[in-house]
Amino acid sequence: MHLYTDATERMARALADLCLDRLAMQAPLDYTLTPEELLETAGQTVTDEGIGQDEAMRLWEHVLAPACLSIDHPRYLSFIPGAPSKAAAAFDMLVGASSVYAGSWLEGSGAVFAENQALRWIADLAGLPAEAGGVFVQGGTIGNLSALVAARAATQHRRGSRPARWAVVLTDETHSSVKHALESVMDVDVVLIPGDERGRLTGAAIREWLATSSDTQRESVFAVVATAGTTNLGVVDDLAGIADVAEEQGWWFHVDGAYGGAGLAAPSVRDLYAGVERADSFIVDPHKWLFAPFDCCALLYRDPVLARAAHTQKAGYLDPVTVEGEWNPSDFAIQLTRRARGLPFWFSLAVHGTQAYTDAVERTLAVARDGRALIDAADHVRLLVEPDLSVLIFERVGWADADYAAWSKRLLDDGRAFVTPTRHQGTVCTRFAIVNPLTGVDDLAGILDSMR
Ligand SMILES: *Cc1c(COP(=O)(O)O)cnc(C)c1O
Repeated sequence: MHLYTDATERMARALADLCLDRLAMQAPLDYTLTPEELLETAGQTVTDEGIGQDEAMRLWEHVLAPACLSIDHPRYLSFIPGAPSKAAAAFDMLVGASSVYAGSWLEGSGAVFAENQALRWIADLAGLPAEAGGVFVQGGTIGNLSALVAARAATQHRRGSRPARWAVVLTDETHSSVKHALESVMDVDVVLIPGDERGRLTGAAIREWLATSSDTQRESVFAVVATAGTTNLGVVDDLAGIADVAEEQGWWFHVDGAYGGAGLAAPSVRDLYAGVERADSFIVDPHKWLFAPFDCCALLYRDPVLARAAHTQKAGYLDPVTVEGEWNPSDFAIQLTRRARGLPFWFSLAVHGTQAYTDAVERTLAVARDGRALIDAADHVRLLVEPDLSVLIFERVGWADADYAAWSKRLLDDGRAFVTPTRHQGTVCTRFAIVNPLTGVDDLAGILDSMR
């Protein structure tokens, strides 16, 4: 077999057919298998001689793909789902076939230009200044890590010294990726500030900590992380109050909008984000609530020069791409080689226009409000936290861990829905995370009924 010529056209057409089918249909929710079950049905797929195109495609279509949940199913309401537009999903195929290197302007100027216009739309929604810019990275985890690394470098450069320990201010509901970045990757301490009754980090609570902390503790802080749409509860922190404290203390102000940043496009909730325009760095995952396929996180910096100083890799073989004045996406995060992962999002945005995005986000918010009304009206379930966005966290009155687990498994086994248990303040409960414009209130009603 030859790697480059054999049956290229036949293979491409067969794969395109599979893609077209997938784009055209409402995919089933599908199911999870154990490694033993998969070995039993799929067998050993990697062999000396190769199993051939027909067999590999058969395995994918009939064995492997059905063993992967469809994240864009309208009743996939766990974690934070995704719901790529058809345009974005289709363009993703093209990105894979195009061999565009989107790490440098020299190699990928056209792709980088388009990605930057998509980033600019987000920067404008947030109210960031004209110089703001950044890069699409793999996900919120790398986005948060890259921003915090830039924040620490910028602070150290500005101060001209470093404390014995660095620290960052956050709260319990801050996403696990931020704690992981700080503690496991960067070896930075976490200053955990208690959240308010909805788990929000507030400027007032940080001020209380400031009033009782030592000089050493205060000097160790280089940044505060606010969340615009917490993952478990979907609430927006007190961005303006936190921005005030950050400004007074000379801290970097990072806003994690991996899930909730998309709400910036929705006039009905835009007020909640007051203060985001003061962020030094900001992330939003288009693969969550902005209808792009995995994996895609928009990372923006107020002053990209500071990010470049922290992230540019230097080596003789990179000199040709390190050209003054050229926008190299690699320079703004922890990465070098990168696929043009912002292009599927850009294509869909260019095709449909930004108003379609506003409409789609508003639709999910409206369904979440209707779902909340259903919960309020029912006796067997109880809302636990007043929602800001499109996450509803609630309990089934009287249920314990095992009840939720059995119910959740039954829903998935029946191919009806994927709704997992979670915990709030130590107690088991469940939640709906609604980011799919195809999710309707009837879907939510059916699931609530299944809990009776
Ligand atoms: C999902 C999420 C992340 C992590 O993003 P990934 O794309 O999964 O890496 C970070 N922060 C928040 C608030 C999130 O919801």
